[in-house]
Amino acid sequence: MTAWDSEVDLLVIGAGAGGMTAALVGALEGLDVLLCEKTGMVGGTSATSAGTVWIPGTSQSVRAGVPDSVDRARQYLGSVLGTRANAGALEAFLQAGPKAIDDLEARSEVKFAAALAHPDYLANHPGAAYGGRALAPLPFDGRRLGADFDRVRPPRPEFLVLGGMMVSRADIPPLLAPFRSWSNFVHVTRLLARHGLDRIRHRRGTRLVMGNALVARLLYSLRRAAVPISFETALAELVQERGSVTGAVVEDRAGRRAIRARRGVVLATGGFARDARLREQLFPAAARPHSLAPESNTGDGVKAALRSGAALDDGAENAGLWMPCSMRKYKDGTVALFPHIVLDRAKPGLIAVNASGRRFVNEADSYHDFVTAMLEADCTTRSVPAYLICDRSFIRDYGLGLVHPRARALSAFIEDGYLVQAPTLRVLAGKIGVDADGLEATVAQHNEDARAGVDQAFGRGSSDLNRVNGDASNEPNPCMRPIGPGPFYALAVWPADLATSAGLSADGDGRVLGPDGRGIPGLFACGNDMASIFRGTYPGPGTTLGPAMVFGWRIAMLAAHGGST
Ligand SMILES: Cc1cc2nc3c(=O)[nH]c(=O)nc-3n(C[C@H](O)[C@H](O)[C@H](O)COP(=O)(O)OP(=O)(O)OC[C@H]3O[C@@H](n4cnc5c(N)ncnc54)[C@H](O)[C@@H]3O)c2cc1C
Repeated sequence: MTAWDSEVDLLVIGAGAGGMTAALVGALEGLDVLLCEKTGMVGGTSATSAGTVWIPGTSQSVRAGVPDSVDRARQYLGSVLGTRANAGALEAFLQAGPKAIDDLEARSEVKFAAALAHPDYLANHPGAAYGGRALAPLPFDGRRLGADFDRVRPPRPEFLVLGGMMVSRADIPPLLAPFRSWSNFVHVTRLLARHGLDRIRHRRGTRLVMGNALVARLLYSLRRAAVPISFETALAELVQERGSVTGAVVEDRAGRRAIRARRGVVLATGGFARDARLREQLFPAAARPHSLAPESNTGDGVKAALRSGAALDDGAENAGLWMPCSMRKYKDGTVALFPHIVLDRAKPGLIAVNASGRRFVNEADSYHDFVTAMLEADCTTRSVPAYLICDRSFIRDYGLGLVHPRARALSAFIEDGYLVQAPTLRVLAGKIGVDADGLEATVAQHNEDARAGVDQAFGRGSSDLNRVNGDASNEPNPCMRPIGPGPFYALAVWPADLATSAGLSADGDGRVLGPDGRGIPGLFACGNDMASIFRGTYPGPGTTLGPAMVFGWRIAMLAAHGGST
C-alpha cells in the first residue's frame, strides 16, 4: 500500500494551456484539484506563443460575422489526413471544441475573438476556412493579476519592443505608419502612453496579447476558482496499483511527496522537446539542434507514462512541428532565436535557397510546411541552413527577422554575422557558400515570374494564406516583386521545433493508451504530452493549442462526471 502524503480528486502536472484548462474546468465542475508546475511560473511554451487556438464551428466565428462549420472542418481534416486520422479522437475534438470554448467563456475570464482573415494552412483541401476558425485570446490587463503578474512566463524577448512592450498582429500596421490616419495615431499614442506608465511600475508591459494573454486569463481564472498551484514542484513518478494510476510522487525543495488522485492524473508537461534522447530517437538529425520550447519541457510526463506501460505514438508524418528560425549571437554569448512566422517570408521580393542556389519551397506557405520542405530537400542537397535572399528595399519595407522595417543602419547586424551583405548575387553566393550560377539563375527566373505575377515553380501567392501574409498593395502578385538592384542580403534559417507532435497514444477523452490500445485507468494526457491528433500535419493557425485546451476540457469533464462528454 502506498503511504500517501495528501489526496485530491484531480492531479494536474504542468501549467501550460493544456494543464491549466484541465485544472480550471475540473475545479469549476466541483473537483478538488491540485496543479503542479516544475518552474516558478505558469505558461510554458503557451505563454511565449502567438496564442492562436484552432477550433472549428464556434459561436465566436458567428459573432465575428465569419461563421464556420464543424462539417466543413470535418471535410477539410478528412482530406488533409486521409487514412492517417485517429477518427475517434478527431471527432471528439470537433464535437467538443465549440462547447469547450463557450463553457470557458461563460464561466471564466478565458475569452476569445475569431479572426476575420486567418486562413487555414492547406488551402488546396476542400473545406479550408479563410477566417473564423482561428481564435485569438482577448488582450488582458496584467495589472489585474496583482503580484501574480510575475508568475506569468514572459514572452520571447525577440517579440518585444521598447524594452518590454508586447505587440499583436493588429498593432503592427499602426506602429509602422502612425501618421497615416487619425485612428493609427490614436492607437499608437495609447500604446506608448500605457507602456510608458508600465515601465515606471513594472518590469515589462502589462498589456498582454497572444499567448501571454491566454495564460494570464487562465491564471486569473484559476485564482478566482481557488485552485491551488504548487510551483517548483515536478512530477517524479506515477504511482500504479493493480494496473491503475492512483497518484503521483512529486518533488519540490522540501523533498518528495506522494499525492493520491482519486479521479486521475493529467499529464500536461509540454512534450519532450528538451529531452536529448527522444529528440535523437524521433527527430531527423537536421532538426535536432534547435528548439523553441522552454528548458523545463524535458519530457517528464511522456517518460513517466512510458515507464507505466503507455504507448508512444511517433507522430506519423512528423514527430515535431516546425518553424524556420534565424539566429543572432551577441557579444555577451547570448543567442536570440527568431522564428519567421508571418512577418517576412510571404512579402514580395524574398526567396529561400539551398546550397545549390535553388529554391525548394513556396516561401509564403506555413512555417511548418516551409521546414518540412527544407528537411526533405536536405536529403539530396544541403538545405540546412537555408538562406532567405532579398535586397535593401525589401528590408526597408518589411524588415527581415530581427531587423525591423525602416531600419536605417544594418551595420550592427552585418558585423555580428546575422545578415550577410554583398554588392552582387555572385559575391553574396561566395560569402554564404552557395552555388553562384544557381543563385543568379534562380533570381533571374524569380524576377521574370514576379513581373508576370505567376510563380511557375512553387505557386507563391496562389493561396489565401500566401496573400494574407503578403502585401496587398503589391501588384499583380502580393507575394512577388523583382529582387534587385543590389546590395543583396542573405539570412540563414534553421529548423526549430515549436511543438512536439509525437507523444502519448491517447483516445478522444485524453485517456492514455497502452500498446494494446486499452486505456490505462486513472491516466490522462493533453497538450503536447498527448500525440497530435493531426498526425504531424499543420492544418491551421492554432494546431496545438486548440486540441490542448479541448482535450484538457474533456478530461476534466470525464473526471468529474464519468461516461461520455
Ligand atoms: C513562437 C511560438 C509560437 C507559437 N504559436 C502557437 C499558436 O499561435 N498556436 C498554437 O496552437 N501553437 C503555437 N505554438 C506551439 C504551442 O505554444 C505549444 O504547442 C503549446 O503551448 C504546448 O502547450 P502545453 O500545455 O502542452 O505545454 P506548455 O505550454 O509548454 O506547458 C508545459 C508546462 O509543464 C511544465 N512541466 C514540465 N515538466 C514538468 C514536471 N515534471 N512537473 C511539473 N511541470 C512540468 C513546464 O514547466 C511548462 O510550464 C507556438 C510555439 C512557439 C514557440
